Amino acid sequence: MKITLRKVTKTPLDFDVKSDEMTFKGYLEYHSGKLILLKANLSGFLTKPCDTCAEEFKLSVNEKVEFFISDGIYEDDNRIDLDVVESFDGNADIEELLNSEIELIKSDYHSCNECSHSN
Ligand SMILES: [Zn+2]
Repeated sequence: MKITLRKVTKTPLDFDVKSDEMTFKGYLEYHSGKLILLKANLSGFLTKPCDTCAEEFKLSVNEKVEFFISDGIYEDDNRIDLDVVESFDGNADIEELLNSEIELIKSDYHSCNECSHSN
């Protein structure tokens, strides 16, 4: 699902994307300048190796995600520390954003139930 950034207005534009057992549901809304706000909820299950015993397990995920998408290079003139993802083709690729969120969660430290209980 690709959304053309310049078509995003102050009226929230809903999206709902699935990847395996994960659901990424939220909306895009025009913020200011080149910035589009993305607010979503990421929920479902991820299969990843336990960081303690290396056994694969299902991690339950339920997270709020909030960041900005910049239509082109983002210049931080105001020196506000914002979480910005730059887009260079004028589109927001929701599947791609979902995949990078999933990779982010996978790179965190997580132990399976057995390991976290024995600690
Ligand atoms: Zn484990």
